[in-house]
Amino acid sequence: MASLSCALLPSPITTTTRRNFATSVRRSGASGSLKCSVVRVTAALEKERSYKVTLLPGDGIGPEIMRVAVDVMQAVGRREGITFDFTEKLVGGAALDALGVPLPDDTLASCLESNAVLLAAIGGYKWDSNPPHLKPETGLLGLRAGLGVFANLRPAVVLPQLVDASTLKREVAEGVDIMVVRELIGGIYFGKPRGFDVNETGDRFAFNTMVYSTPEIDRIARVAFETARKRQGRLCSVDKANVLQVSQLWRERVTAIGKEEYPDVELSHMYVDNAAMQLVRNPKQFDTIVTGNLFGDILSDISSMLSGSIGMLPSSSMSESGPGLFEPIHGSAPDIAGTDKANPLAQVLSAAMMLRYGLGEVKAAEIIESAVSSTLDKGYRTGDLMSAGKTLVGCTQMGEILLDALEASSTVTLSH
Ligand code: NAD
Repeated sequence: MASLSCALLPSPITTTTRRNFATSVRRSGASGSLKCSVVRVTAALEKERSYKVTLLPGDGIGPEIMRVAVDVMQAVGRREGITFDFTEKLVGGAALDALGVPLPDDTLASCLESNAVLLAAIGGYKWDSNPPHLKPETGLLGLRAGLGVFANLRPAVVLPQLVDASTLKREVAEGVDIMVVRELIGGIYFGKPRGFDVNETGDRFAFNTMVYSTPEIDRIARVAFETARKRQGRLCSVDKANVLQVSQLWRERVTAIGKEEYPDVELSHMYVDNAAMQLVRNPKQFDTIVTGNLFGDILSDISSMLSGSIGMLPSSSMSESGPGLFEPIHGSAPDIAGTDKANPLAQVLSAAMMLRYGLGEVKAAEIIESAVSSTLDKGYRTGDLMSAGKTLVGCTQMGEILLDALEASSTVTLSH
């Protein structure tokens, strides 16, 4: 499958340790006499490939798809000598039911102590009429803010096997490969003041504040430029600078950062209404898109539909130095929860993104991605992807087929 490039790659401890180790061996001029100790140290470093991962299955289809992802990670871990120390915690509606809050303190603490966090989804009809502080979504926003994950990267790739699942014509959808970089912990979703009030004529009104500071814009712009640099070198910044002051500052800063630090990246600007239109008219014009929280929420959902199903797309959210948060872009799909109809692939690909970008385990990520690819090649589809001539499977069976594909690929590798 198409490989996903990303900028804000944290330095996973093991990779950094290995790199430092290799450099120090080179500097010391290590020769044959050092070979035994090098082997011993390398073996010790290999043993370090153990990661603390907090699992947040959440609500709805969350637990079903998380189970598949965990089985897949354990299988790839056994194969690659990686061990996972999984801790499962409550978030969203599940946490509200059990503990009365959508983000318990010990959930956030566990996440902060982990090397990475794998989330499924939160929310459901049951909690829809709760007051804001008791909504599952408040737990999700709190989690993102608590982890400081300001950069959300959402790939929208039309896989060749699924081109006919796109609602767009084949010639428009084929070959689409976009990365949407969305600012995640600022803008109107977090801006203050916000609330409800009553005006002087006695009418109720509600208000939110869309606000971005220069440092907030600069850091997301840098992530986006780095991302574009590792892809096709084209970045489109999306705003509403013809109307909003906050967008005017956004455009000014993105332009300045581009000129000063990334002259090699081709930068363009587009108003958000036009961007929404262009994404369905001619999506192949885009390589990397950077935008704020609200516009990114909408545009990344449009981009995801280009690929055929929301059930296929993973995302990663990265902070400046702490653990990353990896999750499918879809919600908890309460309409199909408990029916074994969920597509677990976005969750599995989120685990692959976690391995690649959060833990630096690129090979393990590739193994998972190619198992997904070969499962689709063989024609297996969950309901959301189903088309004539394909084999319909449920969530659990899709997981079993993925494990078989992993097993088969390990046999192929071993026979080389
Ligand atoms: P949704 O993504 O849950 O579902 C939209 C449609 O896509 C539904 O028809 C659903 O059945 C389908 N779908 C989604 N994921 C699927 C999968 N893996 N396999 C097959 N079909 C899938 O969005 P919604 O219906 O707007 O929201 C439902 C709940 O999820 C709400 O409570 C919402 O707040 C919450 N939500 C959570 C997140 C998150 O946790 N990050 C994101 C979006 C929505």
